[in-house]
Amino acid sequence: MNNDLPAIEVKNLTVSYGPVPALLDVSLAIEPGQLVGIIGPNGSGKSTLIKSLLGFVKPDFGEVLLFGEDAEKAKGRVAYVPQRGSVDWDFPVTVREVALMGRYGKRPWWRDLSNEDREIADYALEQVRMADYRNRQIGQLSGGQQQRLVIARAIAINPEVILMDEPCSALDPIATAKIEELIDELRENYCIIIVTHSMQQAARVSHRTAYFHLGKLVEVNDTEAVFTSPEHELTEAYIT
Ligand code: ADP
Ligand code: MG
Repeated sequence: MNNDLPAIEVKNLTVSYGPVPALLDVSLAIEPGQLVGIIGPNGSGKSTLIKSLLGFVKPDFGEVLLFGEDAEKAKGRVAYVPQRGSVDWDFPVTVREVALMGRYGKRPWWRDLSNEDREIADYALEQVRMADYRNRQIGQLSGGQQQRLVIARAIAINPEVILMDEPCSALDPIATAKIEELIDELRENYCIIIVTHSMQQAARVSHRTAYFHLGKLVEVNDTEAVFTSPEHELTEAYIT
């Protein structure tokens, strides 16, 4: 394997659901080990970028490469942390069962989970400080605990890249701070892409920041440079 390859390479990517492109001619390369914040107002194409990286939407033009291969081939190397609001928290499963879900994709369907799978899932729960809650029903968790759990499921996949879509949406400041602390620890071991509509959050956690507006990548640079760029005085008004 060529280790000099970017973890993620998006080349001239255009994606549309209807007549108007949701992403327009976007090119972006992300190196292994980087934590990149994706910012921009609602409707700017952030989630579409994540869906493209996961191979959920097909490009009209351009391509998406993960470790030099197409998204389909790189599946086991990329984990997705969905928005907490898109999960049915009334579903009757325990915390540990959710962490174990991260292991299912790693097994042939006919083979049961092994002790090693259970150890990996338990270790993922420890990393997000949810091991003490492993026998709880997921409906009994607080918002911050639920978010840590969806991150644990992603860690249990043993990925190289973790894609997070709005990991702190609808969390209070204390729960948000805990998630940011966790992201800060994880950045040692994973390439992380974090979508957030909060410029402040991107400024706090990311090495690099990519700023989207109306489907276009307006700027990608070291986080500090992006936040001192005069362009954003104009656009900050859009960010809620
Ligand atoms: P963001 O995550 O930045 O809010 P999205 O990527 O969700 O932006 O959306 C980008 C644009 O694509 C928006 O104009 C949105 O309305 C449109 N869009 C997103 N998903 C769909 C879909 N499934 N069908 C039609 N249009 C969509
Ligand atoms: Mg979105």
